[in-house]
Amino acid sequence: MRTILISLQIFLMPLWTFAQRPTSVPYDDRPLNVFESVESIIFYIVIPLAIIVLYVIWRIRRKNERKASDSLQKSENTSAEKNSTMNNKHLVSIRSIDHVTHDTLRVVTEKPGGYTFTPGQATDIAINKNGWQNERRPFTFTSLPGDPYLEFIIKTYPEHDGATDKLLDVKAGDELILHEVFGAITYRGEGVFIAGGAGITPFISIFRDLKNRNKIGNNFLVYANKTTADIILKEDLEDLLSDSVVHILSEEETDEYEYGLITEDFLKDFIDGDDQYFYLCGPPPMMDAVESQLSDLGVAKDKMVKEAW
Ligand SMILES: Cc1cc2nc3c(=O)[nH]c(=O)nc-3n(C[C@H](O)[C@H](O)[C@H](O)COP(=O)(O)OP(=O)(O)OC[C@H]3O[C@@H](n4cnc5c(N)ncnc54)[C@H](O)[C@@H]3O)c2cc1C
Repeated sequence: MRTILISLQIFLMPLWTFAQRPTSVPYDDRPLNVFESVESIIFYIVIPLAIIVLYVIWRIRRKNERKASDSLQKSENTSAEKNSTMNNKHLVSIRSIDHVTHDTLRVVTEKPGGYTFTPGQATDIAINKNGWQNERRPFTFTSLPGDPYLEFIIKTYPEHDGATDKLLDVKAGDELILHEVFGAITYRGEGVFIAGGAGITPFISIFRDLKNRNKIGNNFLVYANKTTADIILKEDLEDLLSDSVVHILSEEETDEYEYGLITEDFLKDFIDGDDQYFYLCGPPPMMDAVESQLSDLGVAKDKMVKEAW
C-alpha cells in the first residue's frame, strides 16, 4: 500500500510540475499527446521513470542493508552465546585479583548463570589469552554456592613457568575459562581437617558453609605451613573456627604455633572415637605420611576424606 501511494505520488509530481511550467503555447482542445514534443516526453515519461528506478534501487539497497544487519546481529548473538557457554566451558571476567600472601592470589570472577557446586569442589581453569586457552589447571571454589560471584585462592609457582605464573600478569577485566565442576572432598560430618599450604582451599568453602548454617560444631583444623607468612586467610579461619585451629610450621619456630612436621604423636591428641572424619588435603608427600599415621592410629579408611594435589 505504501509503495502504491509513493508510486502514485511519483507519477503525479511531474504532472503537477508540468502544469506549473510557464508556457507560451495557447490552450487548445486537442487530446494530450505525450510524444508531441521533447519537453512532454521528458516530463511524462523520462522523469517519472527515472524517479521510479531510483526509488526501486533505494528500496532494494535498504532491504539488503537490513538483511546484512540482521544476519550480523544473529551471528553476534550466536558467538556471544558460544563465548559464555562453550560446550561446558564458561568464559568469565575477573572482577578482582589480589595477593593474600606473598605467593598466593585471591581471584574473584563473575559467576555464569546456573553454575553451581558443592563446598569443597573444584573446576579446571584456563586463562583466556593467546597460547593459554588449553592450559587447564584444577582450582577449588572458596566462595559459597549462593554467592553471586566465584572466588579462588591460588598459590603461584613462578618456577613452573606455567599457568599460575601467568596468573601473576592477569588483571581485573581479563577472562578465565572455567570447565565442569568436580571434586572428591565434600563434607560428611564432624571431624578433623588437616591441610597443607594451598590445600586449605576446599576447607575454606566448607567452613564458610558450615558457619553460615551455624554448624561449625566440633570441627577442628590442623593447618601445616612452612612459615607464618605462608598461612592463607589466617584471620578468616580464626573468625570461622575461633579456637578450633592449630597451626604447625615446619620452617619457623614461634611462641604461638606448633613447630615441625605432622607426626603420629602430634595426631594422637585429635583422635576422639570412631565416628569422626579426617579430611586431608595438601601436597602428596604430606598426604601419604598423614594417611599412614592415621591408619596406624586406628582410623578406618572410610573415615578419611582426601584430595591429593
Ligand atoms: C582437585 C584439585 C584442586 C586444586 N585446588 C587448588 C586451589 O584451590 N588452589 C591452589 O593454589 N592450588 C590448587 N590445586 C593445585 C593446583 O592445581 C596446582 O598447583 C597448579 O595446577 C600448578 O599449576 P602450574 O601451572 O603452576 O604448574 P604446572 O606447570 O601445571 O606444574 C604442575 C606440576 O609440574 C611439576 N613442576 C613443574 N615445574 C616444576 C619446577 N620448576 N619445580 C618443581 N616441580 C615442577 C610439579 O610437580 C607441579 O606440581 C588443586 C589441585 C587439584 C588436583
